[in-house]
Amino acid sequence: MERSSKCAVCYSWFRALICIACVSRSLNECKTVLDSLKSRREVSYSRLSSLLVTKERAISQQCWMDLHNEKLAKLRDKLELQVEKQKHISETI
Ligand SMILES: [Zn+2]
Repeated sequence: MERSSKCAVCYSWFRALICIACVSRSLNECKTVLDSLKSRREVSYSRLSSLLVTKERAISQQCWMDLHNEKLAKLRDKLELQVEKQKHISETI
């Protein structure tokens, strides 16, 4: 607490506030600080939540693409095998 915000009685004491006015002013200042910290926390929380959602979306999209590419590679292999078989059959006929 700032010295200037203490009354003459409290100012003469070291640290401790002894009158109702100074205690209540001090509590109000604490409440203001807490409210401001609370709103900063909420802003940080919502920013973090939005980052998390973006990250989750990116990860799930990447998983989907990996799965899709894997399926495509299998289909390509299958197709190559079929073409080879067809070529072999047409050569033997
Ligand atoms: Zn006082």
